Amino acid sequence: MCGIVGYVGPKSTLEVLIGGLRRLEYRGYDSAGVSVIANGQLETRKKAGKLNNLVAEIEAHPLPTAHIGIGHTRWATHGAPTDGNAHPHLGGQTSRLSLIHNGIIENFAELKAELLASGTKFSSETDSEVAAHLIAKAFERTGELVAAFTEVVNRLHGAFTILVIDQDQPDVVLAARRNAPLVIGLGEHENFLGSDVAAFVEHTKRAIAVGQDQIVILRAESVEVIGFDGKPAETEEFEVDWDASAASKGGWPSFMAKEIADQPQSIADTLMGRLSHDGHVSLGDLAALSPEYIKNIDRLVIVACGTASYAGDVGKYAIEKWARIPVSVELSHEFRYRNPIITPNTLVVAISQSGETMDTLMATRYARELGAKVISICNTQGATLARESDATLYTHAGPEVAVASTKALTSQITATYLLALMLAEARGASAPAELARLGKELLKLPAKVTDVIENLPQAMALGTAHADASSVLFLGRNVGFPVAMEGALKLKELAYIHAEGFAAGELKHGPIALIEEGQPVIVIVPSPRDADSLYPKVISNIQEIRARGAKVIAIAEEGDATVGDYAESVVFVPQTEPIFSAVLSVIPLQAFALALSTAKGLDVDQPRNLAKSVTVE
Ligand code: GLU
Repeated sequence: MCGIVGYVGPKSTLEVLIGGLRRLEYRGYDSAGVSVIANGQLETRKKAGKLNNLVAEIEAHPLPTAHIGIGHTRWATHGAPTDGNAHPHLGGQTSRLSLIHNGIIENFAELKAELLASGTKFSSETDSEVAAHLIAKAFERTGELVAAFTEVVNRLHGAFTILVIDQDQPDVVLAARRNAPLVIGLGEHENFLGSDVAAFVEHTKRAIAVGQDQIVILRAESVEVIGFDGKPAETEEFEVDWDASAASKGGWPSFMAKEIADQPQSIADTLMGRLSHDGHVSLGDLAALSPEYIKNIDRLVIVACGTASYAGDVGKYAIEKWARIPVSVELSHEFRYRNPIITPNTLVVAISQSGETMDTLMATRYARELGAKVISICNTQGATLARESDATLYTHAGPEVAVASTKALTSQITATYLLALMLAEARGASAPAELARLGKELLKLPAKVTDVIENLPQAMALGTAHADASSVLFLGRNVGFPVAMEGALKLKELAYIHAEGFAAGELKHGPIALIEEGQPVIVIVPSPRDADSLYPKVISNIQEIRARGAKVIAIAEEGDATVGDYAESVVFVPQTEPIFSAVLSVIPLQAFALALSTAKGLDVDQPRNLAKSVTVE
């Protein structure tokens, strides 16, 4: 799950590496390290903890100017996050080879036993170090670095992106990829490698996604890609559409604060080019789904994990209501290992911001083996998930750096709305006039999100006021239910306190026992205008918990004249179509968690124990 950067070219390598690692630090931040080759000499610095510890280490022990190097931020799987276990790891009798690794080498124990038996000394507990020693040994034996590298990566099982430099060949970075992400950035007289395009987007927008079981031979003037079998591989260049400035804080106190505020734009970008002014949806990206195939879909399964699964839950309400296709939302890791019933008429929708979530990738591969078509909703171009899906609906939300997802979620939800409207039209499941009305309402969503953002100081003040809370509960119905779950997840992730989201109707079936005097409860109140008359039911739920001492914060629709009588505080969001309200009501919960965590003095961008893209199962 780590972040990987490689560079060769005329720029200051250290600046390129540290800049790239900063943009990738969200992927893991247990430790960081770099190796460069200068004047024919390999130099390495590494340090436990966040990237700034490495920067301080380099200030204390400066590195010479170099034009080739590799850098890593770690999310430990094998061995504690110590200086010794930090990457790079060195190999060779003179420690002239340096290696960084993202993933898990599953057969490392047997490879390590082999190396120990031949007298190799290890300086870390990582699985990665075996690869460094094996490649160095093979190079010493054959005198051919690329051949040695190819031989060894073929021996490794599991998931890995590996980058290697060696002072005996100081002009080349070698990289290999199996089940872990790797992208090439193409420059003028310089080239880059990164776990994702954020690593180099400030230097170049030309990129190549490296395929499964491929090796990259990267020099300043050339990029060669071969398969693990040594044969030349086909590559396809693409243009990165992220703006480099989008990956910097731009004056905000945290990436999360910036990304919350980005949402009017990120949602507009998700809608752009897909929704005409008269409300008609056209999804050219999904052209691989023929009209006939769409008519024959008999079931839709959404696979995702964490916050993305709540986007799927909201999507279920939209797709079932408008497209009349039965939808189930499944956690990818549960779906994959329970022998699910999938037929060629099952459409699987995989949602992952990074497109590298290993659990979702495994679910996707499995669904395709069973004959299903898979479309993905993904934010990162060139991601593995996109390449392994039949079609991809990109969210175009721009880079999301804070570990806790905000704008990626609301863009994913927006993408599910587009999907629902497209499917509804293709199947003739809703009247065209109704679909046009919904489309036009969806077009207004970015402006309404702007109103929500302008009012966020209120939700932030509530978050700050609850800094001492040891537990916060969230209640919602219909699309308010996944919103409640997401509100609770944000608090767990950012403030490390007990938080749970419940379907409001479930309250009396158990959770109401949790309510005691002073318990803060955030209630997502449906629109009083909604024809399903959920409103009076939720108001009754509020009364039931207040009678037992709960302190209620309501997230309610503007114009709701009654809710104020039942809640200590009310945060109003603009009126919209009830299903679209999920996007508006989740944003104050993001701000609430941000402010509460900040008031506790915690790091909102990099909460403990988490990494942004979970690229191991
Ligand atoms: N398995 C390796 C380790 O624990 C790499 C982890 C990562 O991807 O950061 O060091």
